[in-house]
Amino acid sequence: MSVLIKGKELSEKIVENIAQEVKNYEKKPGLTVIIVGDNPASRVYVNKKKTTAEKAGFNSAVIELPEDVSQQELETHIDVLNKEDTVDGILVQLPLPKHISTYDILERIKPEKDVDGFHPINVGRLVIGLKPYAVSCTPFGIIKLLEENNIEIEGKHAVVIGRSNIVGKPVASLLLNRNATVTVCHSKTASLRRICMQADILVAAVGIAKFVKADWVKPGAVVIDVGINRTEEGKLVGDVDFEEVSKKAGYITPVPGGVGPMTIAMLLANTLELFKLHNNL
Ligand code: NDP
Repeated sequence: MSVLIKGKELSEKIVENIAQEVKNYEKKPGLTVIIVGDNPASRVYVNKKKTTAEKAGFNSAVIELPEDVSQQELETHIDVLNKEDTVDGILVQLPLPKHISTYDILERIKPEKDVDGFHPINVGRLVIGLKPYAVSCTPFGIIKLLEENNIEIEGKHAVVIGRSNIVGKPVASLLLNRNATVTVCHSKTASLRRICMQADILVAAVGIAKFVKADWVKPGAVVIDVGINRTEEGKLVGDVDFEEVSKKAGYITPVPGGVGPMTIAMLLANTLELFKLHNNL
């Protein structure tokens, strides 16, 4: 049976430490989240971000905009927040409605307030090995989980399934920057199972329930499950067949309670860093 990598406990510790640090400051870190439209999943995520930020003593605000908001109107909100001294981090909850250009919106946020690390400047800095103002939260959380569990990255073969801008690509860059040998797989990858079998560290960010089976996994491998999928019965499951794979892997993250909670903890960590940058602390 594998060792469980418990993201829930680590994330609570990180949030608690952040809350303790924030108590020392007279001014408080400010996080503003913009949500467009009525996507129920986005609402759940935004509420969770707001309540956790408040728990840590941040000034947290949510701007709710209607589904038919124009590109220009949304950009105007961002321009105002970019100039607002009390706002350290700006997050636009994705996905955005189809008539909005997501790339233009993400690029509109000042890189120094881009708490999600999605601005091309922050992505570029990450890729060339310079410190970004913020590192994309889920990939950053994955690295923290590996580090806190004393899992060696250098020299290991890391296989990442998924090449999204939100998870796959940034986690691949972070692993590469830490001297892993990285293979990135996607829907057109040939012999996926064979490649996964070579992984010392396997990161699954696919979006298909129980996609990774035990015979894809090398005995003793570290398996990081990023997926959040709902079964027909309403149960939350990852991209990895946990029941099977946990008998073979060395380490594995559960879903829920693995990578998910780390995403919000790293969002707060990023906001705190930007707050310190803005206030020369
Ligand atoms: P995307 O849909 O943006 O990307 C999925 C990736 O998986 C794509 O690169 C796609 O390839 C690849 N893929 C799809 N089907 C296959 C296949 N059959 N074989 C190999 N690769 C395949 O998803 P995200 O990266 O945004 O999210 C991935 C998962 O992680 C989702 O379940 C999501 O809910 C979850 N998630 C969890 C977070 C957390 O906090 N825990 C945060 C963000 C996401 P191609 O590029 O060729 O289409």
